[in-house]
Amino acid sequence: MKRTVISSSNAYASKRSRLDIEHDFEQYHSLNKKYYPRPITRTGANQFNNKSRAKPMEIVEKLQKKQKTSFENVSTVMHWFRNDLRLYDNVGLYKSVALFQQLRQKNAKAKLYAVYVINEDDWRAHMDSGWKLMFIMGALKNLQQSLAELHIPLLLWEFHTPKSTLSNSKEFVEFFKEKCMNVSSGTGTIITANIEYQTDELYRDIRLLENEDHRLQLKYYHDSCIVTPGLITTDRGTNYSVFTPWYKKWVLYVNNYKKSTSEICHLHIIEPLKYNETFELKPFQYSLPDEFLQYIPKSKWCLPDVSEEAALSRLKDFLGTKSSKYNNEKDMLYLGGTSGLSVYITTGRISTRLIVNQAFQSCNGQIMSKALKDNSSTQNFIKEVAWRDFYRHCMCNWPYTSMGMPYRLDTLDIKWENNPVAFEKWCTGNTGIPIVDAIMRKLLYTGYINNRSRMITASFLSKNLLIDWRWGERWFMKHLIDGDSSSNVGGWGFCSSTGIDAQPYFRVFNMDIQAKKYDPQMIFVKQWVPELISSENKRPENYPKPLVDLKHSRERALKVYKDAM
Ligand SMILES: Cc1cc2nc3c(=O)[nH]c(=O)nc-3n(C[C@H](O)[C@H](O)[C@H](O)COP(=O)(O)OP(=O)(O)OC[C@H]3O[C@@H](n4cnc5c(N)ncnc54)[C@H](O)[C@@H]3O)c2cc1C
Repeated sequence: MKRTVISSSNAYASKRSRLDIEHDFEQYHSLNKKYYPRPITRTGANQFNNKSRAKPMEIVEKLQKKQKTSFENVSTVMHWFRNDLRLYDNVGLYKSVALFQQLRQKNAKAKLYAVYVINEDDWRAHMDSGWKLMFIMGALKNLQQSLAELHIPLLLWEFHTPKSTLSNSKEFVEFFKEKCMNVSSGTGTIITANIEYQTDELYRDIRLLENEDHRLQLKYYHDSCIVTPGLITTDRGTNYSVFTPWYKKWVLYVNNYKKSTSEICHLHIIEPLKYNETFELKPFQYSLPDEFLQYIPKSKWCLPDVSEEAALSRLKDFLGTKSSKYNNEKDMLYLGGTSGLSVYITTGRISTRLIVNQAFQSCNGQIMSKALKDNSSTQNFIKEVAWRDFYRHCMCNWPYTSMGMPYRLDTLDIKWENNPVAFEKWCTGNTGIPIVDAIMRKLLYTGYINNRSRMITASFLSKNLLIDWRWGERWFMKHLIDGDSSSNVGGWGFCSSTGIDAQPYFRVFNMDIQAKKYDPQMIFVKQWVPELISSENKRPENYPKPLVDLKHSRERALKVYKDAM
């Protein structure tokens, strides 16, 4: 295993901190064999397409239908928090409160709990970034306080096994059952949870549903999408693989549920009551092991405010001041023209229903214009939020995209160059292409880059460098504060022409044009590549020569892609 120390000694970076990171780049080259010893093959992926293998979401739904709610011998209701770390407009939490209130009428001693389960192996396997995990830890502490005000204890369970074990395992089911039984002293427990649409998580939920101990009743809910996956199909009943017609139906769906000019999505609000007796609030004992924090420059540990209130006020600020300029400013690299809500959305600190509701109020009653090209800034912002739903729907419909496979299986034949040195240079912002380097350095130092930045660097890696897009997808997951596998795989698939509704393969971003258009005065580039500050038009000696010739590498990409597709 080759390890490289990334040492950024440039003036700007050293002002902040030296980024001395011992980095194992090989981990990005393939799925982690420890967790995925038998990765899915093209044939396996096709089994989902030709219906010889059931899709995990369908299995969950089938098993759920068999479940009946019974309050007999039940003493406990518990909401299992996952990527839905909020009180406001949380479907599963709302349902758990409703179930608890029903149960209380039969059993005055019934208790309502909440739980979050840590499995570090899941984080390792899914390459969750240190930024994101730190945010989650902060959010959990904050959530614990907010729940305590409602007299609901938030439990934190840690699942550890001597061998690396994901939560979709038998061991996890046993662990989970035992923990639940400890809380309820062996009596029945109703667990509510919001569905996560990634394959590993769906198989975990399937195992739990298949568990035969009737004391454990699991109730899963759709929460993270505005329109539930599976509801939007073509008139022939097939799944959409193109965004625009899907989006038009999405708009119809949302409009159908419109209640008034101020509420387009229904929200699930729990009453601020005291649900249990008082209890002693104990701080969590868990702290994140260093291995998860190693890629974060220490002096830059300045996370966004983790509270739900912060998410709401960010939304309010955005809608009040920036959203009307979104069309013009969202792509600019030197401006913060977007909402910056992604970390809150990814971790579930804010619901996208609430976001769309609030944005809708500045849309004159229409979330989409008659002609898409006439969409106002705020309407386009809502459309971007819809992209997130689209990619989640697609992950349910083509589950292998959550298992390290491209949506377009023919693109498995692309003959990638996969030069590991070029990959390292891309990762660390040393390609000699200023716009790419500036973006990649910003990602390393802050954990966040805007959508245009993601598209530019993804196009450069997969087309100009001809490196398998999955290497870059993993690097992004490991370094983005908002890493979300469906949007990340979706975005990478789009840029590398291997995914759903992707760019045509011959669309290769021209880095010079991107730079001129989105950073015309080089404000952003000079901020992150200070070597270029006083260079006028000459390439300074301390800045690398371009890794590839843009014209030649474009032509090479066209040929290699064409040969495969
Ligand atoms: C290669 C690539 C990788 C990406 N990886 C991720 C990822 O890991 N996590 C992630 O949340 N988004 C990802 N995106 C989508 C998008 O870049 C981010 O959601 C956006 O930059 C977040 O910033 P924001 O909240 O300020 O966005 P805004 O423009 O303010 O958008 C608001 C919200 O809409 C959603 N959204 C916006 N654009 C998209 C999009 N193109 N696809 C899906 N949802 C969108 C996000 O939830 C976002 O927070 C990726 C895009 C690309 C091209």
